[in-house]
Amino acid sequence: MDLNFTPEQQAFRDEVRRFLNDRLPGDISRRVKNGQPLEPQDYTRWQKILFEQGWGAPGWPAKFGGPGWGPVEMHIFDEEAAMAGAPRTIPFGLQMVGPVIMRFGTPAQQERFLPRILKAEDWWCQGYSEPGAGSDLASLKTRAERHGDHYTVNGQKTWNTLGQHADWIFCLVRTDPQAPKQQQGISFLLIDMKTPGITVRPIITLDGAHEVNEIWFENVIVPAENLVGEENKGWTYAKFLLGHERTSIAGVGISKRELKRLKQIAGREIKNDRPLIEDPLFAARIAQVEIDLMALEVTNLRALSAESRNQAPGPEASVLKIKATEIQQAISELMMYAVGPYALPFERQSPEEGALSSIAGPPYAAPLAAAYCNLRKVTIYGGSNEIQRNIIAQMILGL
Ligand SMILES: Cc1cc2nc3c(=O)[nH]c(=O)nc-3n(C[C@H](O)[C@H](O)[C@H](O)COP(=O)(O)OP(=O)(O)OC[C@H]3O[C@@H](n4cnc5c(N)ncnc54)[C@H](O)[C@@H]3O)c2cc1C
Repeated sequence: MDLNFTPEQQAFRDEVRRFLNDRLPGDISRRVKNGQPLEPQDYTRWQKILFEQGWGAPGWPAKFGGPGWGPVEMHIFDEEAAMAGAPRTIPFGLQMVGPVIMRFGTPAQQERFLPRILKAEDWWCQGYSEPGAGSDLASLKTRAERHGDHYTVNGQKTWNTLGQHADWIFCLVRTDPQAPKQQQGISFLLIDMKTPGITVRPIITLDGAHEVNEIWFENVIVPAENLVGEENKGWTYAKFLLGHERTSIAGVGISKRELKRLKQIAGREIKNDRPLIEDPLFAARIAQVEIDLMALEVTNLRALSAESRNQAPGPEASVLKIKATEIQQAISELMMYAVGPYALPFERQSPEEGALSSIAGPPYAAPLAAAYCNLRKVTIYGGSNEIQRNIIAQMILGL
């Protein structure tokens, strides 16, 4: 594999940089770079700007409004956008249900849902997990019974990310409880969150944020036209989606930006009268993360390259998931070590640079503990890392 960028790819990088320079709102970029939380409208504002540019869905085929980029262009865009402080993409519409509707949906579903995802007119969320069905997802119990032209849905989903903002949820539901294998009785339904009978209850995470929810369905009526593909074949679509979910988790660009921030922090903190970044032990730990990140980048390029040949991501997605999440946690941990006792305050927001604050220590230290706690989730969601190791053992190593 030739890892040097061609002159065309360099020119594309310049074009992306110019665009980001001109169009990325400064207030959003500043908050992203300072590790401050964004509001839902910040994500949709940015998605609409991308859509106007024709860059709303980097991974989608041109037929559905994608820009026709190859894997390298997608990688370059991802890297530049993260470095410039662009918001990360909320994956549920663009990277999860979008590809499923493109591959398995009816033309009517494609026409109805895909343009709205592109323009950020619908916010989607994912209804897979249930209290008794996380790693063992196929044991899910939420029932959908067919009555003529509609389904009636009853049950509970949990760990639903950002569902409090969602217009639509894609759900795995049990349509045939008698099927000989659990996997055979599951269907994939698209449900309007405004339908009567849906209740969203917050779950507050370790960092004090309202990021996840539990969702209850009580006699929720869903038109049969919202079934994706065939009834009882939902497991196939669910697995296709999970492969996409794990590659989108790689977040190489974001980790590069955070690594840069780590180096800046380590350059400002003083240990034994010299910048911490010059401390051999600390420098070695940063170097180790940087090497891991470079290896992840190459693996991610390989996965993107397979995806662009229309191959669904295979077990290599599990390698990406494990390494990417370990790197994210390692960078956050090193930031905590770098500021030492100043990591003790627990704030989600860092004060603006130069602003008066009641918190001791530099402004960049204040939100590090909350971010560290929040990042405990990454080795769990998208299929826990233990489960990914099982997949690697069975499907790559043949154990
Ligand atoms: C912050 C966050 C956001 C999430 N967002 C969503 C969302 O938007 N939509 C959605 O549907 N789901 C979401 N999830 C759910 C997530 O996918 C599940 O939490 C995950 O699949 C693990 O399932 P579980 O929580 O039921 O844990 P369990 O399956 O009960 O696992 C508990 C522990 O046992 C280990 N374990 C279980 N089985 C095995 C095995 N066979 N071998 C080895 N170890 C095993 C697991 O790795 C884990 O460490 C989210 C989760 C989190 C934490």
